[in-house]
Amino acid sequence: MSQMLEDARQVERKVIELRRQIHRNPELSYQEYETAKLVAQYLRDLGVEVYEGVGLPTAVLGVIRGKRSGKTVALRADMDALPVNEETGLPFSSSKPGVMHACGHDAHTAMLLGAATVLMRHLDQIGEVRLIFQPAEEDGGRGGALPMIEHGVMKGVDYVFGLHVMSRYPTGTLATRGGPLMASPDSFRVDVVGRGGHGSAPHETVDPVYISALIVNSLQSIRSRLIDPLEPFVLSVTSIHSGTKDNIIPDRAVMEGTIRTLNEEVRRKALDSFKTLVKAICEAYNAECIVSFKENAYPVTVNDHETTKRAMEILRELPGVDVKETQPVMGGEDFSRFLQLAKGSFIFLGTKNESKGIVYPNHSSKFTVDEDALKIGVASLALLAMKFSTEVD
Ligand SMILES: [Zn+2]
Ligand SMILES: [Zn+2]
Repeated sequence: MSQMLEDARQVERKVIELRRQIHRNPELSYQEYETAKLVAQYLRDLGVEVYEGVGLPTAVLGVIRGKRSGKTVALRADMDALPVNEETGLPFSSSKPGVMHACGHDAHTAMLLGAATVLMRHLDQIGEVRLIFQPAEEDGGRGGALPMIEHGVMKGVDYVFGLHVMSRYPTGTLATRGGPLMASPDSFRVDVVGRGGHGSAPHETVDPVYISALIVNSLQSIRSRLIDPLEPFVLSVTSIHSGTKDNIIPDRAVMEGTIRTLNEEVRRKALDSFKTLVKAICEAYNAECIVSFKENAYPVTVNDHETTKRAMEILRELPGVDVKETQPVMGGEDFSRFLQLAKGSFIFLGTKNESKGIVYPNHSSKFTVDEDALKIGVASLALLAMKFSTEVD
């Protein structure tokens, strides 16, 4: 399908320009007002049917009604930036201190606009294509996907696809896999409520620092003793706060951290074991403990096997593109919600380029994408939409 890559090349300059414009004006989760406005205006100018405020004020849905009958395909891009202070030194760096497109969602949005441009030139070769521009992917809680889904954007959708730029793979690479691709990221907080006193008389106190240390250690036994060793699993206690001075045993300690799983059953078991262990340790030392998990954690991102196999075959038709099987990664993704409602694939787009010094990981203050990869993203999205929307049973 060298034609599709040629079509993508024709919009490449526009896509790069859009990406830079969005990059310069990053907006945090739920605040993507300017970006949403730009997206809606661009789509309208293309002649795409546009719906704004779809479940959230900054959510945008575009609908392209191709002339072919077949299936409905949704393509999704996320639009939000991160609270990171940009240090790339790029001429189109963030104009807002402390806010940056450090995960490449600027590129996602620009590439989907590019794909829309290409698809509008091929209306006689496509069925219905929905363009989902979602806010708040980085929220990690309720996120932007659910409100859009509740508003009905996935009604009647047969297939859904999304790309994520990936610093791990070089430009020219697409990587995905059937089955679990990204983790469910659960966040926890544990409050250990003890009884403070003098550091020289621990027997008169309930020491939350000691109890916290026991908890941190024994939580790792979930990995080593309670979960199948062949199942991917991470538990990290990432913060502990307690105490003020060397001779005072404090009243309370607070711990926070994250649990990553790739399987719903393992996840349930881990969360149950977590509560049981923490409770037992606190009970043994007469402390009270309050365990809470952040609600609405993203589910595991699971690619449909058959669809992904076919998508990979289709993408291999793009000349010069290396389509690889990837290992799962332990980050979470709001795209998981869409994959619960339609068959589809989430695909990594390699954007690393060592010769240009583009080597920093997603979420780094020096993260950027090799813009040479954008046309591959545009061609991939448009090609998947074309092939899957014209599928007949
Ligand atoms: Zn991110
Ligand atoms: Zn991201």
